[in-house]
Amino acid sequence: SHPDFQAAIPIMKKIEEAGFEAYFVGGSVRDALLGLPIHDVDIASSAYPQEIKQIFPRTVDTGIQHGTVMVLHHGVGYEVTTFRTESGYQDFRRPDHVTFVRSLKEDLKRRDFTVNALAVRHDGTVIDLFDGLADLDHKVLRAVGDPHARFHEDALRMMRAVRFQSQLGFAIDPATESAITTNAALLAKISVERTATEFTKLLLGRDRQAGLTTFIDTGLYAYAPKLEGQDTALRQLAALTAPQFTAPAIGWTLLVHLTGLNAEKLLRAWKQANDLIRLTASAAQLLAQLPEADAWALYQAGEAAANVAFVARRALDASFDVAQSQAAYAALPIHDKAELAIDGKTLMASGFKPGPQLGQTLNRLERAVVFGELPNDQQALLAAAKQ
Ligand code: ATP
Ligand code: MG
Repeated sequence: SHPDFQAAIPIMKKIEEAGFEAYFVGGSVRDALLGLPIHDVDIASSAYPQEIKQIFPRTVDTGIQHGTVMVLHHGVGYEVTTFRTESGYQDFRRPDHVTFVRSLKEDLKRRDFTVNALAVRHDGTVIDLFDGLADLDHKVLRAVGDPHARFHEDALRMMRAVRFQSQLGFAIDPATESAITTNAALLAKISVERTATEFTKLLLGRDRQAGLTTFIDTGLYAYAPKLEGQDTALRQLAALTAPQFTAPAIGWTLLVHLTGLNAEKLLRAWKQANDLIRLTASAAQLLAQLPEADAWALYQAGEAAANVAFVARRALDASFDVAQSQAAYAALPIHDKAELAIDGKTLMASGFKPGPQLGQTLNRLERAVVFGELPNDQQALLAAAKQ
């Protein structure tokens, strides 16, 4: 009934008219049944990629080696993926090779959790081969089939479990959780990037507390970059009752603060983007000084990092006033060196010699302006420079 599904129905019908099956599958089915907003609509089909390309005039080979073809319909792209199994798992990672199959059941069997293994036909019929509807109803994450075997096949699924626990606010079925505990060490086989994607989603989820608690209790954390031995700090993070984090930097800044790890080293180990590393490092530096931070500390953090630090401090301390701190930041006389009413050129034009001393003088003026000790006024700054 969702408009995104409605728009894809003509595609499903065309596939069926050509003699194949087509179903909505994956996260959008789960989220729609939960009444949550949906992102990408995934379609699974018994048609092979070449067959899909014969049915539709306009397609793009977005992931043809995995069986995915994008069908363009009224300017919108829909990913149609051939039913497949993933045999020949090696090294506890997802296999590079997939086998196309004609049976929906085979395709649903290889999916991670029962709530992710539902299929819906264009007329709304739900195919529920693994009791995913009951698990949706009871808000339970349960591995499809034998959880041991499934985590052995692909250890990333253990991170996906704690990520969905946080995102959806679901419990993890005891047998599934116990299999995570048994197999936690296999997480070390998974690429840091893939682990980090799931961990970030966990941090941003609505039940971060539960997801983090399972991440710790199962021992998964010990096989994530730099977190071995950090259970005390992680428990402190898990205990924070602050509302859902609105940006990854908030979670990372708190993690840096509570572990005492170097922000740059921690986030590099997690292969995070340079922008996020810089933001987190600046925010963590300011956070350590709050609530007492002086004007210079606020100024040096910059607006983005200051806001992250304020929200992080509020998460640690319910009496911290974010709005008041934001007002203090806004009230700084200048927010950037470029706003200083004097620069090196002006100083040299008034007889100052180029060199390190000039830089020191400028820094002294910048600090004085930030602290409100001097007005940000060229004449006043020139006079102060000459003293
Ligand atoms: P999201 O809302 O984050 O996109 P999702 O459930 O759609 O959640 P995807 O990573 O987009 O997650 O995967 C789509 C579907 O593919 C899943 O719902 C699941 O059925 C299957 N899947 C994805 N990754 C795995 C995996 N590692 N093992 C087994 N099945 C998986
Ligand atoms: Mg998805």
